[in-house]
Amino acid sequence: MTAPFIGINRHRLATDGKGVTTLVAFSGCPLRCKYCLNDQCHDPERAVATLSPQQLLDQVMVDNLYFLATGGGICFGGGEPLLHSEFIHQFCTMKVAEWRISLETSLNVPRHHLERVAGDIDHYYIDIKDLDPVIYHDYTGCDNAQMLANLQWLLRLDGMAQRITVRLPHIPNHNTPNDIARSKAKLAEMGITHIDEFNYIIR
Ligand code: SF4
Repeated sequence: MTAPFIGINRHRLATDGKGVTTLVAFSGCPLRCKYCLNDQCHDPERAVATLSPQQLLDQVMVDNLYFLATGGGICFGGGEPLLHSEFIHQFCTMKVAEWRISLETSLNVPRHHLERVAGDIDHYYIDIKDLDPVIYHDYTGCDNAQMLANLQWLLRLDGMAQRITVRLPHIPNHNTPNDIARSKAKLAEMGITHIDEFNYIIR
């Protein structure tokens, strides 16, 4: 098994949670966000590498001592990493046990992908865009029902609320402060306490 990647970025500090991390970014994403920062993920021709789980492990192993000393590890992003759930699972069966594994995801994928990695992921960074289905569709070109159902499924797992950070973007020309406040209130009702508000940049 192999997967295509748009980048592998080493020595990230304080961007993916605890410790030094390497961001491993997969090619491929089901969404079409208007201000996508990683547009090359939509073009298979622009992948920079195709690797097997073992080949990826060989590459990231170079930072093993940093990961162990700081409590860091690997953050899978993209694109949408959950489209490569089997790859991530295989990688996690081989990695150094102490590495922390995190995932940057839109969660807008068929459920089986999430189920495949649920036992492997220490922390989820979930970019929900906006919880309003019309705003979500306008911005991503996709429906948000699957994302919401996946978020609810995840929250039913023991202690999961503490392992989720929801990213709630201010999306220029798409959501207002009132829309953001509504999303925030709904997330709080769902039991989510880690919410990271930030501004998208128009590209
Ligand atoms: S989910 Fe991320 S990678 Fe996918 S289109 Fe949106 S911004 Fe780009």
